[in-house]
Amino acid sequence: MMEFEYWWLLALPLFFTLGWLAARVDIKQLLSESTALPAAYFKGLNFLITDQHDKAIEAFVEAVEANADSLELHFALGSLFRRRGEVDRAINLHLSLLERKELPDPQKLAVMAELAQDYLKAGLLDRAEELFKLLDDSRYEQPALRSLLEIYVREREWEKAIETAVELERVSGVPFRKEIAQYHCEQAVQTLLSNDRETARKHLDEALDANKNCVRANVMLGEMEALAGNHEAAISIWKRIEFQQPDYLGLIASKLLASYRVLGKTEEGLSLLKTYLQTYKLPSLLNVVYEAAIAQNDAEGAAKLARDELVKKPSLQTLDQLLQARLIIDDAPQDAHIIQQSVRYAIGNRSAYYCSQCGFRAKHYHWQCPACNAWESLPSEPSESAA
Ligand SMILES: [Zn+2]
Repeated sequence: MMEFEYWWLLALPLFFTLGWLAARVDIKQLLSESTALPAAYFKGLNFLITDQHDKAIEAFVEAVEANADSLELHFALGSLFRRRGEVDRAINLHLSLLERKELPDPQKLAVMAELAQDYLKAGLLDRAEELFKLLDDSRYEQPALRSLLEIYVREREWEKAIETAVELERVSGVPFRKEIAQYHCEQAVQTLLSNDRETARKHLDEALDANKNCVRANVMLGEMEALAGNHEAAISIWKRIEFQQPDYLGLIASKLLASYRVLGKTEEGLSLLKTYLQTYKLPSLLNVVYEAAIAQNDAEGAAKLARDELVKKPSLQTLDQLLQARLIIDDAPQDAHIIQQSVRYAIGNRSAYYCSQCGFRAKHYHWQCPACNAWESLPSEPSESAA
């Protein structure tokens, strides 16, 4: 009786492995082919499981040679090639499959989908685009649309990116509003380069139509007004950001204050920023209000701001500000200079925007992560380490 139970314990890992196989290979096909499958195939699987990819490739090449009719084996080998960066081998493999006259249409589509991925990986975007487009109305449509979108964003073809994202929303049911609004903003950036402000404004309105919470559109609309000297209009546009995503107010705080200053209403601007600061507690708002106080020779006010903040939340940055204000007031504690220097040294250059998707560290805010291309993936406020 005991022995029987032990036997089951030994069998468990086998069932896990079978489950793993079933997830990758059609189990029925595997069973029907298992007599025909060469030993090299299982050797290859074994190398894959133990992460010995070079040996796995050798084994799969052998398996494909011994079993030239199995598409699944070709695909497994092709995707191995791709993952190992041997894209030209993947391309040759799939091209030779396409040349086979006896290949039925559904299988042909499957090969095309693989080949398109090869081209994408190889950076042959035109050829990839051409193939992906041929895959619409097939069961590869959704992944093809995703890849097309990736291509258009990489090539900064925003019109096509918008069309593709809309289509992708339709077939997948997954919203792409945030991205679509960003593509419209990118169009606005492009048209502003050729000084076409009317068209730029049109694109920004479209961005807000696509996503009413698109902060970037209001940041840009306000900048355009301020640049044209319409500071009242700029201020009223930037104020809308509070009702979109208040976390982003820090992005326009100093611009907002500058526009108030041009209008001779610095005090009004400062009091608005202080209200924001009280409500949303953003460090970048504190910095702008603090700097404004220093610029107005109000070191007492600046010191009070920093002290109030320090009581609530200890921070080297704020301590540095308090010390700086104290040094101006001239009632600095003993050794204040050397303390401030040490604090500055400790802070160093660490403050940055860390991408929530890939951890990339950016000195300035970007709407699109320069490393992983995700949109609005940087936090609205810089921090001293990745979250
Ligand atoms: Zn990133």
